[in-house]
Amino acid sequence: MARITQLLDAGPTLSFEFSAPRDAEGAERLRRTLARLSKHRPHFMSVTYGAGGTTRGPTRDWVQTIRDHFQVEAMPHLTCVAHTRDEIAAIIADYRTDGVDNILALRGDLPQSTSPLPPSGGELPQAEGGLHAFDTAAELADFIRERADWDIGVAAHPEGHPMAASVEADLTHQAAKLRRADFAITQFGFRAEYYEQFVNQLDARGVETPVIPGIMPPINVAGIERMSALNATDFPTEIRDRLEAASGAAERREIGVEVAANLGRELLELGAPGLHIYTMNFARAASEVASALGWPTD
Ligand code: FAD
Repeated sequence: MARITQLLDAGPTLSFEFSAPRDAEGAERLRRTLARLSKHRPHFMSVTYGAGGTTRGPTRDWVQTIRDHFQVEAMPHLTCVAHTRDEIAAIIADYRTDGVDNILALRGDLPQSTSPLPPSGGELPQAEGGLHAFDTAAELADFIRERADWDIGVAAHPEGHPMAASVEADLTHQAAKLRRADFAITQFGFRAEYYEQFVNQLDARGVETPVIPGIMPPINVAGIERMSALNATDFPTEIRDRLEAASGAAERREIGVEVAANLGRELLELGAPGLHIYTMNFARAASEVASALGWPTD
């Protein structure tokens, strides 16, 4: 279908992110979500990967479904943590068979029930049945590049990665990784100034890779607080206070959509090459944000 760099050239792009559901009910809801969001004619959709391979089959299946059934370009995420070199090579070979053109190369985090990750840049635990092959997403991106002529995206962390040894080491690593990638997608955030500062810092290091900001409509205070704490994302008090003062779910959604749409507008005005909306597999808020930003439905 289409390469994301080509789509970005004609941008700004609109993209949505989903996760492979765990049960039949979740699958049914995701189908309805895809049906609604595909009406915005997004440039692409992406499907997350369960670190260690927990969604290996489902991620591949949903990527196929999005491409074949909804006629939207779909990009699989792939994490390298706890995978052997052979496993990664086999996954890439499968995607080549499927005609995939774009992939998001990530390190991933092991589930909390298993041993915690060492400080970033350190050695990761060994994969079952063989040596853990890659310590960083940058190494995974290089490995993929050697095997497939694809557009390779990576994750960006404008507010810094929570396990970074230092701000400077983190920026140096991120700049080096982005130089090896075709595009990047950021962790979600709520302040455009972090994105602006991050792209300026990359620019000062001579990195020209397009960085697509990720946005998530803040609706559920507890959920956003939990994810923000995990990612070291600043969840502004003024947004939390507004959500907590809301009279019910409908008003919380309105606030979340308004906040995300305003942020999206600011990011596009700053020159962002597109917007990547984290949907949590729910259609309504993501669709309302896209509409508010001028991406109409069919
Ligand atoms: P890396 O770039 O390898 O490293 C992360 C950080 O570690 C760096 O920013 C840096 O601070 C430090 N670091 C690494 N190597 C060095 C070095 N040599 N020197 C100094 N510092 C170093 N997780 C999933 O499990 N599945 C998904 O599908 C998924 N999708 C995501 C999509 C996006 C858009 C984003 C932003 C994140 C996603 N994640 C996903 C989460 C991601 O896996 C975690 O944030 C993980 O902790 C880091 O992954 P990374 O690819 O950025 O890692």
